[in-house]
Amino acid sequence: MSVAALTKQILQAALFYEIWDAMKVTFKHMFHKPMTFQYPREQRTLPDTHRGALALLRYDDHQERCVGCDLCEAACPSRCIKVISLEDPARPLQRFASEFYIDITKCIFCGYCVEACPVNALAMTKMYEFSTHDKRTLLFDKKRLYEIGERHLDDAKKYLYAHNQEQNVEESREYRYYFPQSVLKSTQPPPKHLS
Ligand code: SF4
Ligand code: SF4
Repeated sequence: MSVAALTKQILQAALFYEIWDAMKVTFKHMFHKPMTFQYPREQRTLPDTHRGALALLRYDDHQERCVGCDLCEAACPSRCIKVISLEDPARPLQRFASEFYIDITKCIFCGYCVEACPVNALAMTKMYEFSTHDKRTLLFDKKRLYEIGERHLDDAKKYLYAHNQEQNVEESREYRYYFPQSVLKSTQPPPKHLS
């Protein structure tokens, strides 16, 4: 080692060069805007495409959208959906889900079930705070899924619009609205594209 290099090494050791070099990075970041959020006091604004807890939705007249077709169950890669459907005795040919379960502990939030649903009865919401000490409460049943749907209806609709599942236009609303009407008692004229 040359004399110059040796002198430099001794000087650096005496002046704690490595420490000051590392502190330079710390000082630089002291004047940056923080990128962290003080959760739960501060919460991020989530995009409409966010995949949070699943919810079941109703039509505007509070009728259940779900027709118990089982397509979501078939599409789920995690096998965490169970639908039991029955025919509505008051409305022949009209089915509904008498029971609906989603084991949210197995859900991978892929959104395939939402895509598979022909009547947009399922949607994802921005709700993600459902951690618990009791794993058994994470088997969401029909009542809980509809409750989530009612509490987060705006976010669920935004999710469907953001993923092009549903369009926020009159013709689309007419079609969806016509779908669940009874075959015996039509209370609405058929939508324009079916008449
Ligand atoms: S989001 Fe994916 S994993 Fe979760 S229930 Fe739907 S299809 Fe199954
Ligand atoms: S949520 Fe949709 S896909 Fe699943 S059973 Fe109901 S109507 Fe069918």
